[in-house]
Amino acid sequence: MNRSRRRWLQSAALACLGTAAPALARPKARVIVIGAGFGGATFAKTLRALSPRTDILLIDARAHWCTGPFTNLAITGLRSVASITRSTADIGRAHGVRTLVDEVTAIDPVTKTVRVVGGKRLQADRIVLSPGIAMRWGAIEGLTPERSATMPHAWTGDAQVQALRDRIDAVPDGGTVLISAPANPYRCPPGPYERTSLIAEHLINTGRKRCKILIADAKDDFTKRPLFLAEWDERYGGMIEWISRAKGGEVVRVDPATGEIWLRDQTTSIGTHLASIVPAQKAAGIADTADLVDESGWCPVNPQTFESTRHAAIHVLGDAVIAAPMPKSAFAANSQAKLCAAAIAAALDGRPAPDARMINTCYSLVARDAAISVSGFYSAASGRIAIVSEGVSPLNPPDGQRQREAAQAFDWYESISTDSFGPRA
Ligand SMILES: Cc1cc2nc3c(=O)[nH]c(=O)nc-3n(C[C@H](O)[C@H](O)[C@H](O)COP(=O)(O)OP(=O)(O)OC[C@H]3O[C@@H](n4cnc5c(N)ncnc54)[C@H](O)[C@@H]3O)c2cc1C
Repeated sequence: MNRSRRRWLQSAALACLGTAAPALARPKARVIVIGAGFGGATFAKTLRALSPRTDILLIDARAHWCTGPFTNLAITGLRSVASITRSTADIGRAHGVRTLVDEVTAIDPVTKTVRVVGGKRLQADRIVLSPGIAMRWGAIEGLTPERSATMPHAWTGDAQVQALRDRIDAVPDGGTVLISAPANPYRCPPGPYERTSLIAEHLINTGRKRCKILIADAKDDFTKRPLFLAEWDERYGGMIEWISRAKGGEVVRVDPATGEIWLRDQTTSIGTHLASIVPAQKAAGIADTADLVDESGWCPVNPQTFESTRHAAIHVLGDAVIAAPMPKSAFAANSQAKLCAAAIAAALDGRPAPDARMINTCYSLVARDAAISVSGFYSAASGRIAIVSEGVSPLNPPDGQRQREAAQAFDWYESISTDSFGPRA
C-alpha cells in the first residue's frame, strides 16, 4: 500500500472514530435499519460501536440470502452456494443488535413509523434504509418476475443463483449462451463481464470449448473494458462476442419458453441454450413507497450524512442511492454505512458530522486464478461526491500480477464479509 493511500485510510478511520465519545445525558435513541445486506449490516455494527446506548433494530425480509460478491463463482462451481449464504439472525448476534425477519411495507417519513407484513407498527427517531435494488420489469417484452426464473439474472442473492448454476451444467458443447448487461446505473457494473469470463472458463474446463457466449449490452462502454477485452482475447479466443448498444446489443424481447432472444432492430431471434437476462434497475420498492426516490428511480441524499434530501432523519445507503461517481458495490455500501453511522452518532450527541471520506475497490475475476481491479477514493462537499484519486490494473501487467490480484480478491471477500456480517456462525 503506498503512503498516500495509507494516509487516506487513516484519516477516513479517524474521521469516524473521532465521533466515538458517547453523550450519556441524552435519552436513549431508537434507530430502525431496513436491509441487513452490506450497507445495513455494516451500519448497524458501526452505530452499535459508536453509540452503545442507542436501541438498534435491524429488519430484513429474508432470513437467508447469498452475497452479490462471489455469486459468479457460485454459479460456476468455484464456491458452494452455502459458502456465500448469510443469515439475518447471525448478523444480529454478531453485532449485538435486535433483528426482525419481516418485510417493511410502509414508512411514514413524518412520524418515523414503520409497518411490516407481520402487522407490527414500529416507531423510531431515525430510520436507515439499505434496501438494495429492484428490477424495472416491463422494459423487456416477455420478461416478468416469474418468467425470469427461466433466464435467471441471479442478481439479488435468491434461488436464481442455484437455478443459474444448474442451467450452466445443462448447456451442450457447441451451445449458445447469452448474457445481457443493462444500461447504467445498475448493481455491480463489472458483474456481467466477470460472469462472462467465469462461464467461458467453466465451459472450456468441462469439455465445452465449442460454445459461444454473446454479451448483449444496452451500453456502448463498460468498466475496465480494454482489460476485459484483452483478457477474453488471450484466454478464450473467439468464444466471447460483445455486442454494444450501437451494434444493436440491447435486448428488447425474450421468450423464456423457447430460449429465443430479440435484440433491437433485429427481426430474427437468437436461439439460446442458456440466457442470463439482467434487467435495468432502480431503487428497491420500499424506497419508492416511502417517497425517497426522485424521477431517476434512485434516492437523492446528502453525501456527507446519507440523510435523504426528501425527508429529514431518514437515511439511505448502498445501491439504492444516487452516489455517482461511486459505483453500486458492496465495498461502496460498506464505506457509506460507516460514514452514515458516524454522522448519526455525531448528530445524536449534538456534534457536527465528520468529514466524508469513502473508498471502493471492485475486483473482477477473469479466470479462477486471475483478476483485474479498479479503485477509487472519494470525498463529499457541496452536496456532491468527488473522486480524490482512482486507479485501475495495467493493461500489460508484470508477471504474476493477475494472479496476485486474484489472491487479493479472495482475501477481500473474506474480510468485507466478516467486517459487514461478522464471522461465519
Ligand atoms: C453478480 C454480482 C457480483 C457482485 N460482485 C461484487 C464485488 O465483487 N464487489 C462488490 O463490492 N460488490 C459486488 N456486487 C454488488 C453488491 O452485491 C451490492 O452492491 C451490495 O449488495 C449492495 O448492498 P446494499 O446494502 O445496498 O443491498 P443488499 O446487500 O442487496 O441488501 C439489501 C437488503 O434489503 C432487504 N430489503 C429490501 N427491501 C426490504 C423491505 N421492504 N423490507 C425488509 N427488507 C428489505 C433485502 O432483503 C436485502 O437483504 C455484486 C453483485 C452481483 C449481483
